[in-house]
Formats: sequence, structure tokens, C-alpha cells
Amino acid sequence: MIGPTLSRPRLVRAATTQLADALCARGRPVAGATDLLIHGLDTATPELVDLTAMSDARPPVEQLSGGVTRVSATAPISAIARAPVPIPAALAQAIAQFASPQIRNRATLGGNIANASPAADLVPPLVVTDAVLGLRSADGARSVPISDVLAGPGRTTLRAGEWIDYVDLHPVEHSGFRKLGYRRALAIAVVSLAWSWSATGTRLRDVRLAAGAVAPTVVRCPHAEAALTELTPAVVATAATAIHQDIAPIDDLRAHAWYRRDALSGLVRELAAPTEEQTGTQLSERNTTAS
Ligand SMILES: Cc1cc2nc3c(=O)[nH]c(=O)nc-3n(C[C@H](O)[C@H](O)[C@H](O)COP(=O)(O)OP(=O)(O)OC[C@H]3O[C@@H](n4cnc5c(N)ncnc54)[C@H](O)[C@@H]3O)c2cc1C
Repeated sequence: MIGPTLSRPRLVRAATTQLADALCARGRPVAGATDLLIHGLDTATPELVDLTAMSDARPPVEQLSGGVTRVSATAPISAIARAPVPIPAALAQAIAQFASPQIRNRATLGGNIANASPAADLVPPLVVTDAVLGLRSADGARSVPISDVLAGPGRTTLRAGEWIDYVDLHPVEHSGFRKLGYRRALAIAVVSLAWSWSATGTRLRDVRLAAGAVAPTVVRCPHAEAALTELTPAVVATAATAIHQDIAPIDDLRAHAWYRRDALSGLVRELAAPTEEQTGTQLSERNTTAS
């Protein structure tokens, strides 16, 4: 024998959601395969269960009663962005800043959640919209808040055989997402921030902030949320300092911990003074107006 024999997992296609429940009891779910291919195929997994061709798959986005938006966890995220039903701005902006058009045509919300990267772009928008995941398995269905599913880098609390079917997003008045990467496309976040709030005049209520790539999981930022009562530069500067109490960044190949702390403060400060990119204002337009 020249070398070890490699056994490759078999790819089985779930033709319906019910078949997916049965197949996931013994195999590992796969959707766009954009993460699975990076991390390599686990030869201990006998079967991969393809979730992308189920005949009874739900539409990419549905509007439910109470303003809840139900988003498919197995549809490509480009289909979610194109859907006729609107999605919260934070999620739309995160999809727009995600990878490249080719990856967005394959990658799914379910894969982004189950991959459990602290830098996953789509997770902060789910945290600030109090998202609830719809999970399925051969044992039945259950609903779990997103914050109960994220356990650490690469770890979730999903049970064996469970797969993510949909994500319910609760209505928010204002929301947004911004990430800092080393280039504009195909960049993993050095830090990211999603926000949501309601406003009465200049006063903010129900402020939610979620930061990515600054702790073992995406985290809510209670100290910064309490400080962010309005969007004046002074108040926002206080929140930008308070957010340091909410995070535990590490040094890694993309950035030092101190850089991440300062960069996240910068993203918070931009809430008071949106960049041209955020407002969509081109420099040339401003020059024209000014002249
Ligand atoms: C070039 C490139 C650029 C990228 N850029 C970004 C980026 O900008 N931002 C970002 O956040 N990520 C990025 N990624 C990572 C990846 O694209 C995302 O995490 C994507 O959302 C994964 O979705 P998927 O459907 O491809 O998951 P898959 O690769 O199919 O699966 C990933 C993991 O999730 C599990 N899984 C998949 N679907 C389900 C489900 N429905 N239920 C339960 N478990 C499931 C799989 O078993 C596997 O463990 C990039 C990847 C590549 C290759």
C-alpha cells in the first residue's frame, strides 16, 4: 500500500424538509459549502446532507403577524437581499458587505450561524433584532433565541441531528451594521457592530448594540447601550468608551486586542457622524453643494 486510504463523506441530497430531518440524524448538514470547504471535510462524517434542494423549502423571506420577519436559513443570502419582502436594515447592510457576489450566491444564514465564528457578519444583525431560530430534527421542532445558540468559537448548542430551518427577526425602528476589514470586499471583519433602537425626538430607546470579532462569540454591549441615550457627539463618545467594558478582544493574525478596542470605539463614534459611505453622499456631490 502506498499511502493511507482516505474515505470521503457521501453527499446525499434532502429532497424534502422531512427527509432532511431523517438524514441529519446520521449525517452533517451542508448548504453553500463555503465554510465547510475552507475547514476541510471531516472524514469521521459518513454523510453530508445537502439542504439546498428541498422541494418544500420556505421562501427566502416571509412577513409574519406582529411585524416579525421570517428568513430562510437555507436560501442563498443573495436571494434574501433580493426578496420582495423587506428585511431589517442591519441585515441588508451586513449582506451587502459580505464576501463577494459569488459567495453571496452560495452562502446561507444557517451556515453563518452554525459555523459560530465570532467574526460572522450576519450574526450581529440577528442579535440586535432579538432573533429566534427555528430548529428541526427527527425528534421534532423547537425555537431558541440566537444568544442561547452561540457557545464559543466554532461551538453552538445545536443538538445532534438538528438543523436550522429559519430565523425570526423582531421588528426594530432603526438598525444598521458596519464592519471594518482590510479591504472593501472578501474581507473578514477585524471588528463589526450592529445597532438597533427606537427614537422619540432626539432621545433613543430600546438601544441594542452587538459587536463581532471582539469576544469568543458575538456579544451584546450593555454598558455602551446604557450610555447611548442620544446621538450627540458627547454622548456617543461616552458610549464609545463604555463599550470597552463589554468586550474581551484577543491578539490574532488580523489585529492586536488594543487595535480592536480602538477600532470598535471608532465604529461607535461614527454613529454620531456617519461616514460618506454610510450616508451614500459622494465627495463630488458635497463639493458641488459647497461650491
Ligand atoms: C471567499 C470567502 C469569503 C467569505 N467571506 C465572508 C464574509 O465576508 N463574512 C462572513 O461572515 N463569512 C464569510 N465567509 C464564510 C462563509 O461564506 C459564511 O460563514 C457562510 O454564511 C457559510 O454558509 P454556507 O451555507 O456556505 O455554510 P456551509 O459551508 O454549508 O456550512 C458551514 C457549517 O454550518 C453547518 N450548517 C450549514 N447549514 C446549516 C443549517 N441550516 N443548520 C445547521 N447547520 C448548518 C455545516 O454543517 C457546517 O458546519 C467567506 C467564505 C469564503 C470561502
